[in-house]
Amino acid sequence: MRMDKLLANMGFGSRKEVKLLLKKGVVLVDGVPVKDSKTKVDPETQKVVVHGEEVSYKETIYLMMNKPPGVISATEDHVQETVIDLLEDRDQILSPFPVGRLDKDTEGLLVLTNDGQLSHSLLSPKKHVPKTYFAKINGRVTQEDVEAFKEGVVLDDGYKTKPGAVLSILHSGEISEIELIITEGKFHQVKRMFEAVGKKVTYLKRIKMGGLSLDENLKLGEYRELTEEELERLS
Ligand code: URA
Repeated sequence: MRMDKLLANMGFGSRKEVKLLLKKGVVLVDGVPVKDSKTKVDPETQKVVVHGEEVSYKETIYLMMNKPPGVISATEDHVQETVIDLLEDRDQILSPFPVGRLDKDTEGLLVLTNDGQLSHSLLSPKKHVPKTYFAKINGRVTQEDVEAFKEGVVLDDGYKTKPGAVLSILHSGEISEIELIITEGKFHQVKRMFEAVGKKVTYLKRIKMGGLSLDENLKLGEYRELTEEELERLS
């Protein structure tokens, strides 16, 4: 692979930026400075050092984002801002895409990756990956709602949700606060489940997916790479 492509893929900047980096002589391959961006390098067998630090080549990318409201969980849109637009250029190089969808007004945990296999396994209905949501609800959420969700409720299109949804009431009042764990991922599922019991979701945030929790240090719109441990927990 060409040196400039390798460095750009690894997040060292655009092709133009890495060309400048190479010119400075701070990139060593097997101990020898490489200044020509066209030089071929094999990242599997050769040691690449930039600014004195060995760098490892990667082809996959795994990110967690605290999705803000107002952006859509798509890779491209002509009109609306997407979660991909929120990524730095260097993180867009490996073409990550969102794993599943959160509604435009939903916040919270969104995994972005270019690993199709991981995405498929997280979304597969057969895997029953649990997703935990925090929500604010207009109206008093009751024990009957807890029981109804446990049994399964009938959505507006006649679909009955799988039994086993776990609804925890954190606060019950005019505006209630709840946590809900579901293993399905039907379109607008949380909102429609509450509609099925005559209530309206006014705020929705995903806080967990499988064994992965949203890093509460991430402000809305911020993201970071998953740690190896988090990735293991997820897959
Ligand atoms: N359920 C919803 O209603 N919306 C989401 O964004 C996710 C789950």
